[in-house]
Amino acid sequence: MLRADIWRSGGALTAADLVAGYRSLIGKAHAKGIRVIGATLTPGWGSKYLRREMAKVRQETNEEDTAHTEQTIAFYVARIGHYLGDGVNPMHDSIHCEGWFGPNPHAYTRDHALHGRFESQFVDAIGLSASDVIGKIGAPAHQQGDIFEAVLAYLQGNADKVETIFQLDPRGAFADGSDEEARGFVYDRIAGGAAMLRDLLYRAWRESASHGQGAHRPQDPDAPGYNPATGTAPAPLDS
Ligand SMILES: [Zn+2]
Repeated sequence: MLRADIWRSGGALTAADLVAGYRSLIGKAHAKGIRVIGATLTPGWGSKYLRREMAKVRQETNEEDTAHTEQTIAFYVARIGHYLGDGVNPMHDSIHCEGWFGPNPHAYTRDHALHGRFESQFVDAIGLSASDVIGKIGAPAHQQGDIFEAVLAYLQGNADKVETIFQLDPRGAFADGSDEEARGFVYDRIAGGAAMLRDLLYRAWRESASHGQGAHRPQDPDAPGYNPATGTAPAPLDS
């Protein structure tokens, strides 16, 4: 798996550089008969940056430093929250983002407006509030194991529900806020997203207590020899 982004390059790359790079990579792969699948992924595992900032805030005693670090933490929380939040709409996690795409045996709508009807108009109509979902969030999970795998499973779990939106729409379920099944569907998605965000933040805070101990992973920005241009430290050489 290849991971690349403008963020990781520290601003040294433009979008045109990335596109040219991908084209060259895809050309080489196709020449060898390799099929290339391009996709964007939510950067939920960015919680490693959070862990580092949280470790700092644990040690800082100067109010000015703490305020600065807290602002950085707030930035990462907002960033992770944005992408995890996007992930709760199954349409974002599938190729059916703007209406049904491709073969259509159930004659689902290809109407681009379904996206906004579901995630904006309907959510506004039900006047979603914290009390609608707080009881569904449950106990912390994802405190062990690979975060990247957990984020993939989270996105897949939402993607698996995409047909429900297309099944609910024809009866006008998103037209006003009254459809019970559609409301429950939104509450479940939002509660799942809130739980995932809570899990990643809680885990980052717990792990920040032991930050810097044990072996660095090559993709940790504070790993020895970490190169921001590649997003990793060089592989260790066999002696
Ligand atoms: Zn959207």
